[in-house]
Amino acid sequence: MRTLLLNGRIEGADASDIVIDDGSITRIVPAGSAQVESADEVIDLAGQLVLPGFVDGHSHADKSMWDEPWTRRHSVDITMEQMFQDTLEQWKLPQSSIKDRARRFLYKSIAAGSTTIRAYADVFPGIDLQGVHAMLELKEELAPFADISVVAFPQLGILRTPGTQDLLEQALKDGADGIGGLDPAAVERDASQVLDIVFGLAEKYQVTADFHAHEVGELGVWLVERVAERTKALGMAGNVSMCDVFALAEPSAEQFGRLSHAFADAGIAFSIGVHGLLPVPDVKGLHEAGVAMCLGSDSSRSLWSPWGDGDILSRAMMMSYKSYWRTDDDLELAARLATSLGHQALGAAAQQVVTGEVADLVVLPGEAVAEVVVQPVPRSLVLKRGVVVARDGQLVTAAG
Ligand SMILES: [Zn+2]
Repeated sequence: MRTLLLNGRIEGADASDIVIDDGSITRIVPAGSAQVESADEVIDLAGQLVLPGFVDGHSHADKSMWDEPWTRRHSVDITMEQMFQDTLEQWKLPQSSIKDRARRFLYKSIAAGSTTIRAYADVFPGIDLQGVHAMLELKEELAPFADISVVAFPQLGILRTPGTQDLLEQALKDGADGIGGLDPAAVERDASQVLDIVFGLAEKYQVTADFHAHEVGELGVWLVERVAERTKALGMAGNVSMCDVFALAEPSAEQFGRLSHAFADAGIAFSIGVHGLLPVPDVKGLHEAGVAMCLGSDSSRSLWSPWGDGDILSRAMMMSYKSYWRTDDDLELAARLATSLGHQALGAAAQQVVTGEVADLVVLPGEAVAEVVVQPVPRSLVLKRGVVVARDGQLVTAAG
């Protein structure tokens, strides 16, 4: 199967024709010089930008209420306790199945350009493994559209919610790709024990480990250093990640130095959150220190938060806006966090629009990468392994 993309604009190159054979980019030649008659499919991009497929390193599709009847949100306390209550309440609401809601949100994420997605699935007694099983089924169902990995996530804590640990282990036996943890110090009150459990299961089942960490200040720095110690001791560099990490929002210079060192030295990836509540971390400083990073959609219109639409380019825009990035160099870094750097943060090779790469591509109108970061226009096409899987914001459901 040969597909030709004619007259596309690739970062740093003149207008080009892209030749795709069986899902991989085999040649990139000046626009107008590809042999059209040799192709099974020819698509004229009319000078549009071509970016690598986006990476969403932090999706909560299982909790999404996207396209459900609107639910009024009342909780005003910004506390983890309130968040836990809202989580429990949401699962009791009359709503579509987890699988149907998550599928809707993932369709939207993919149509916005995400071809690689790390999705968390809530695990706690009551919903048990319904979320994990739904997400594992969707991982298989949506394989032609996106590479989805599923992290079993103790949203209500492991020690705080007895019964969760056994469920997490069963989730890994059932095929989850990773195990999560939540605020081992501030919520669980016993970081050592939580790290024993999470790293123990990660090692036993050879999966990735990931921590949501809302600890602030010195406690947050201490926690990241403890995660780094374990990561190094177990030789798990590249297989451990952290998200939220509120300690990175407003650290002192000394704390920032310790945090960036801990991440880079231990090989822990950071998925950048863009929170209305807090400043965005110093992403450029972390990048310069060698910290692997990706972006994440995070909120997905749950009962706790109505925000989030699964669009990673919009997250890149919000991050850049909150960071007051203005130069093309900075805005291009934002785009790379959504693409090539994001892949590296998830433990894969950097994916770029070059010969030899898998043809996961996003096509959108615009002249420059910086332009589409500040103005995330609708995506014209999304290709997964050379096949058009979304067009003008809609999934092409005949794919695969
Ligand atoms: Zn999260």
